[in-house]
Amino acid sequence: MVQATGVRKSFGALEVLKGINLSVSNGQVMCLLGQSGSGKSTFLRCINHLERIDKGRIRVDGELIGYKEHKGYLQEMHEHEIARQRIHIGMVFQHFNLFPHMTVLQNIMEGPVGVKREPREDVRERAHAILKRVGLAEKVNAYPRQLSGGQQQRVAIARALAMQPKLILFDEPTSALDPELVSDVLDVMRDLAQSGMTMIVVTHEIAFAREVADHIVFMAGGEIIEEGKPGDVLGNPCHPQTQAFLSKVL
Ligand code: ATP
Ligand code: MG
Repeated sequence: MVQATGVRKSFGALEVLKGINLSVSNGQVMCLLGQSGSGKSTFLRCINHLERIDKGRIRVDGELIGYKEHKGYLQEMHEHEIARQRIHIGMVFQHFNLFPHMTVLQNIMEGPVGVKREPREDVRERAHAILKRVGLAEKVNAYPRQLSGGQQQRVAIARALAMQPKLILFDEPTSALDPELVSDVLDVMRDLAQSGMTMIVVTHEIAFAREVADHIVFMAGGEIIEEGKPGDVLGNPCHPQTQAFLSKVL
């Protein structure tokens, strides 16, 4: 579903991604761990071309993201083609980024109706079903400010799901939440994973990663320093930086 090969990205003189190679199969969950500043968010943003990569290739479902290849050269796509690719890639951020002046239902319907041009009645029905799935059926007409952080984040997940994406990227979805609100959000993510959604999750929730991830990747200084199955990487880390990171968060 996702294939990154030799992905490099610099901001000015600072090289933030130094040749990332990874792949995520259909229906798999990959958790991305690493210290602050290691390049996790930048890499996620590259997957839906919110950041332009300097070198390498990213493919989602076989399709090159952000560029067209022509006789070995890459040419950046037009904005509307990039927008078409992003329809298939959901993204959930640390700060939920809901539209404050719209109700929960309106927030969820906006993408499918406004961007995908789907019939309003179909979308409404789907939105209600998704809200039920994330445990917020009774909040359809609430505004974001009337919800807890955990509820807002579940609305953000519902909003991503309403677009029927092939893949959802999560960037520290629970980091901004009070501890007692974290588990409701993780429960929804676990349910999604079990339903076969392909997910890349940047998180510091090691217990979640251990339980839900098919594959764990550790980044440090813009490189992948260690990866593998959760039991191996978390139980028996080889790289000193992985060991140091885990001893801090566990
Ligand atoms: P955190 O765990 O704190 O979220 P991260 O692993 O997600 O960290 P990134 O946000 O990807 O790290 O940042 C990697 C590096 O790139 C950092 O040194 C950061 O300061 C730098 N960086 C990120 N975005 C930009 C930008 N738009 N312009 C310049 N530098 C940037
Ligand atoms: Mg980050």
